[in-house]
Amino acid sequence: MTPHSIGRPGRRHVVVVGAGPAGLSAARAAAEAGARVTVLDASHATGGQYWRHAAGPHEQLTDEELRLQHGWDTYCVLDAAVRSHPAVELVTRAQVWAAERHDDGPRLHVLVGEPDDAGRVPLTFSPDAVVLATGAHDRTLPFPGWELPGVTTAGAAQALAKADGVAVGSRVLVAGAGPFLLPVAATLAAVGATVLGVHEASRAGALARGWLDRPWRLAGTSGKLLELAGYAAGHVRHRIPYRVGEAVVAAHGHGRVEAVTISRLDPTWAPIAGTERVVEVDAVCVSHGFTPRLELAVALGTAITTERFVDVDVRQRTSSPHVWAAGETTGIAGVDAALAEGWLAGHDAAGGAPDERRARTAVRRRAATHEVARRMAAAHGIPVQGAGSGPGWLRWLTDDTVVCRCEEVTAGRLRDTAAVTCSTDPVSVKLTSRAGLGICQGRMCSAAVTAILGAPGALESRPVAAPVRLGDLARAAGPSA
Ligand SMILES: Cc1cc2nc3c(=O)[nH]c(=O)nc-3n(C[C@H](O)[C@H](O)[C@H](O)COP(=O)(O)OP(=O)(O)OC[C@H]3O[C@@H](n4cnc5c(N)ncnc54)[C@H](O)[C@@H]3O)c2cc1C
Repeated sequence: MTPHSIGRPGRRHVVVVGAGPAGLSAARAAAEAGARVTVLDASHATGGQYWRHAAGPHEQLTDEELRLQHGWDTYCVLDAAVRSHPAVELVTRAQVWAAERHDDGPRLHVLVGEPDDAGRVPLTFSPDAVVLATGAHDRTLPFPGWELPGVTTAGAAQALAKADGVAVGSRVLVAGAGPFLLPVAATLAAVGATVLGVHEASRAGALARGWLDRPWRLAGTSGKLLELAGYAAGHVRHRIPYRVGEAVVAAHGHGRVEAVTISRLDPTWAPIAGTERVVEVDAVCVSHGFTPRLELAVALGTAITTERFVDVDVRQRTSSPHVWAAGETTGIAGVDAALAEGWLAGHDAAGGAPDERRARTAVRRRAATHEVARRMAAAHGIPVQGAGSGPGWLRWLTDDTVVCRCEEVTAGRLRDTAAVTCSTDPVSVKLTSRAGLGICQGRMCSAAVTAILGAPGALESRPVAAPVRLGDLARAAGPSA
């Protein structure tokens, strides 16, 4: 298969994977530094998760849609800069499904077309540099009944509301951990749902330690703090209660969710006996943070940190030559961090001067946003150890709780398999129990599986990064564009 290339030969070719805040920022910086740039995104539109929208590139958002967006002007400027630059080719509906390391650099395999369409066009790229800006997906801790229809991740509810103006239910409860719960509740209220409450698992002490420690250090992040204050004001307007130290520990219903059990939590997130109460709902949205998309980074051999993010240096270079990373693949720090990191990655990948004034500005911005990230992790991070064995949230689970939803593997089955095979190695348990072998390839369950097994390690190696048809694979082996 011949590698696809665009633009004038001779210039450095940078491929940016992902057209969210980090990817758009990287593409603009790389083009301005003189590279020819290809931007690939699996979605139909640019903007990523933060600026998710339904409209096409030249359509205006309605007033209603605009109310759900933040920093829309920044997006419009960035998107226009990328689209109008003569050295940039933007390909949407372009799924990078595999990445390979070769002696002369990385190779990316792409399918262009509607998801799961039989006629997608295969392309291969062998660029000088790759910027991975593939973002994250939300992480949800399992609980009994979480597989019932009507239980969604907070991110899925947010995406549905932003892209289609649809609320996941009419009586909705939002639960989990992190400031992301606030925009989700605000968006749901804006599209007409009654939000019964936001239940944050972290207790007041952890929140105060994380957010109130040396407040002057947050001075450079006033934009994000104002955005959060805006959500809080919206919650007051819509009378949405915000409770801390509480979690949804079970969902109940026949055929779909009809009620949830909420419990107060101790500092390890173990439920406090006797504090349970049942609330009737027709939908519940749950997220406990984010998990970075690491498939392509792992395939390209980049080092991964102990917190399971792509390890980057001050110039956003990974440990693999030719590979840079930015945005939520490198840490959960929000949109401003993604923009600053993307700029630095694109600029450096294109061979831009590291001491340029704009580079110094981006470094300062990144440092300020990382202060927010540190506080988010301290205030809302999932406790890793409880009083007994493992984190307290493991006590939400019964033996019958489904952990791997694709293959319907329960917590009890995972523990039995580990006992029978005398192994808690995640790969061994995956092969013997099938947890993580289904269509999502462990994206949703692998962190929970390793916590239940009490095992180090993770199931992040996915040579095929997205579901592909066998016919596509066969065509990919033939000549390409
Ligand atoms: C579902 C969801 C909703 C969110 N909504 C909000 C919100 O409303 N407000 C808020 O403050 N924060 C939100 N966040 C957090 C938000 O993602 C970040 O603050 C910010 O968008 C991160 O930017 P990014 O560029 O790193 O990643 P993203 O914005 O996630 O962009 C990554 C892009 O990479 C593309 N991509 C990934 N893998 C591939 C591949 N293999 N091939 C091709 N393209 C690929 C994706 O389609 C996506 O467009 C949300 C997160 C999630 C997961």
